[in-house]
Parts: sequence; structure tokens; C-alpha cells
Amino acid sequence: MTAFSSSAETKKQIAITFDDAPRASTFQKANERTKLLIKNLKKVNAPAAMFFATGKHLTADNAKNLELYAKAGHFIANHSNKHLWYRNTNTEDYQRDFLNAHDKLKNFPNFKPFFRYPYLDEGRTEAKVNAMSRFLADHNYTNGYVTIDNYDWYLDSLFQKAKLADKTIDEDALKKFYVSTLVDASEFFNDIALEYLGYSPKHVLLLHDNDLAAYYIDDLILALREKGWDIISPIDAYSDPIARKIPSTLFTGQGRVAALARDNGAQPNLLVHYAEDEAYLLQQFETLVAANKQCQIEQLGFLKGQWEYRSNKNIFSEHWTISKDGLQALGKVINLQTGKTLSKETIKLTRRNNQVIYSALPQQNPKVTHFSLASCHNNRYAFINKEHDFPQLIVYQYQAPESGKRERLKVDVHNLNGKGFTLNYRRLNDRR
Ligand SMILES: [Zn+2]
Repeated sequence: MTAFSSSAETKKQIAITFDDAPRASTFQKANERTKLLIKNLKKVNAPAAMFFATGKHLTADNAKNLELYAKAGHFIANHSNKHLWYRNTNTEDYQRDFLNAHDKLKNFPNFKPFFRYPYLDEGRTEAKVNAMSRFLADHNYTNGYVTIDNYDWYLDSLFQKAKLADKTIDEDALKKFYVSTLVDASEFFNDIALEYLGYSPKHVLLLHDNDLAAYYIDDLILALREKGWDIISPIDAYSDPIARKIPSTLFTGQGRVAALARDNGAQPNLLVHYAEDEAYLLQQFETLVAANKQCQIEQLGFLKGQWEYRSNKNIFSEHWTISKDGLQALGKVINLQTGKTLSKETIKLTRRNNQVIYSALPQQNPKVTHFSLASCHNNRYAFINKEHDFPQLIVYQYQAPESGKRERLKVDVHNLNGKGFTLNYRRLNDRR
């Protein structure tokens, strides 16, 4: 294969779209956010983006912000009036709501008749899917589908909560986290397209009109270009053959590429990107972005005693005692069949420079590794060392006993990409 043909094959195109515009003020004032988003799109010479507006957001004040997007050359489209779940709404009400939004939006400069279903929910019965699809056609509308689903809205909500709680935010880490999560999701859905559609279609990235988009859209676009993506206009993206290829599956919540892949036999669980997971994103956000420096060793006093976990092959155990400067444990792995000790390590919890430090010293390795306690909410204690090869993240999750049962301790030993293993400890009886 020549270099030329391989580069032609890897040509990837993506259009940028924002839902739920124009968003009210959050941490950033709505008007400032709008201007920043426009400025940062312009800074990297991005082609026009499409803003899917929700009618109910169009207060007298905020309508001006939608107009700013339009005047900057971006497209305005329909994202319903009340942002209803189609599956929970009867078709007539849903269509009335659509028309209501259409009336509010049709006179904006740069309005284009594209409809983005709220929650990407196109209906859960064939009858409803078909009814709305016919209705859109009758009104000269095109389905403003996405191909790259993700949880950018959830990342923004974590940012808003952290700001309200007055947490210290590592802005550089937040930028990297936002950008890498979205680039990774784009590659993920493109790989699905290559595998199940046989080519790379013109993609549509789902983002939301929110603070993180305004801060980091320029970095995101640069990172996408770095990975070989061309940013294109949404009008161009919706000229792709997949725009006319209506999926027969009712599985539409992951976007059109996933739906068409489902039609072609892909299993639904393989069509969800790993970062479409609130628990994962929360864990990453708390450990990487908004570390809590107020965690105390005393909070980890529940560790004291013996913990054991039996896998198919091995017995894992940790025996924690109080030490002069904190807590200390002996950790062991014993082969279940032979009784042979496979590994032994000393773990220490101490306080240093106002941080709780988890130090692990394996017997067979003379080098101690330190992890710092980055978050301590809801009996969940995340220790992190970004520089270590493996693991980078050790999370202790304590579960108080249900009646008649033993206390549990779940320990996730992971890298930041989520790969690793979990130890499901139970407390041994105190007298043993
Ligand atoms: Zn929405």
C-alpha cells in the first residue's frame, strides 16, 4: 500500500454542533460565554458550527446571544421547545412542541431546518419513529443527527459543581481531560464506522453550549486536526450518504453511526464509548482536576483490621494496624492451591506536606511508590500517582455492612485509562 492511498483512507471529517443553545448564565455569564465561544472558534479558523436551540431558553435577554452566534456566521437549528423525551411524550404533543420552537427560531439569521432530537431519542416504537420522521419531511426538515455521542454536558456539570463548592481546579488538567475525552470518543465512533459501515463518513460531533466548550473549543479543534481530522461545515456533513440512510433499529441514543452499526450486527454494548459513564468521569474529574486537599488520615480509620478477597486462584489480604504516624498494612497474595506466598508488600498511610500519602513497598522491589490522596467523598478514597507506570490510581471504597453481612472494601487498582483490576475485600472476623 502506498503512503498516498493510506492517507486518503484515513481522511476524517467532522462538523461541530452545540445543543441547548442559548444557555443561561452558569459560572460564566451567558453573554460572556457566547462571545468567548465565538472568539475561540474564530481563533482556529473553524468553519461555521451549528447551534441547536431550545425554544424555552429564548428569554428576551438570552435570545440576543443566539443572535450573536448567527451573526458570527454560525447556523441556528431546532432542538425543540421544551426539550422533551419523545419516548415519554405522545406524538401530537411532541410535534406541537417542535412547531412552537420552529416559530421562535425561523426568523433568526442563518436559520436552517435541521431538527436534533433531545436526548437523541427518536422514539421507542416503529410507529412513533416513522410518524416523526414523516413529519420532519413534511416540514422540509432534515434529521440533525450526531455521529459522535459523549458526555460533555456531564463534564460541564462537574465543573459547575466544583466551582460552586469553591474547589481548586487544575485548569490545565481539565483542558486535557475535556480534549482527550472528546478526541477519543471521535476516534471510537470513527473506528465503529470503519468496521461496520466500511468507510469513514462525514461525522457530526455533539457538544453543548456550555462553559467548557467556550474555554476549550479551540484546543479541541487543534487536537482533532493533529489527529488527522478536517473540521467541516455541518451542512456539508449532512450531505453524507448516512444522512439518507435511516436506521431500522430503535437504538438511536448513541447517534447514527452506532445505529447503522447495530443494523449491521454490532452488539449494543460495543457501541458505547467508555467515557459515556458518569461514575468514570466523576472519578477522573475528582482525582485529576478538582483534588480535595482537606482529606484526613483519620477518615481512613475503618481500614483497621483484616481484609481478605479470594479470587479463583489466589487469596489477597491486607492487615491494617495503627502506626505511630498513621496507618500501616501488610498486604499478601497467596496461591489458593499451593499455599505459597506469591507477593508481600508494606503499605503506609502518612501525612506529608498537608497531603495524605499512600506508600507501597513490595517485598520483591526495593523501590517505594507514593500515591497522594486526591479525593475523599462518600467513603471513596482515591490515591493517585500520574507518573507511575502501573498502577496510577488506587481507589478504596468502603461499604458499611448490611444487616448480618460483613463490611466490604472494594479496591480498584487501575491506570488512568481505566485498565486494571479490582479486589473485593470482606472484613474477616475480629477474633481471627
Ligand atoms: Zn439537548
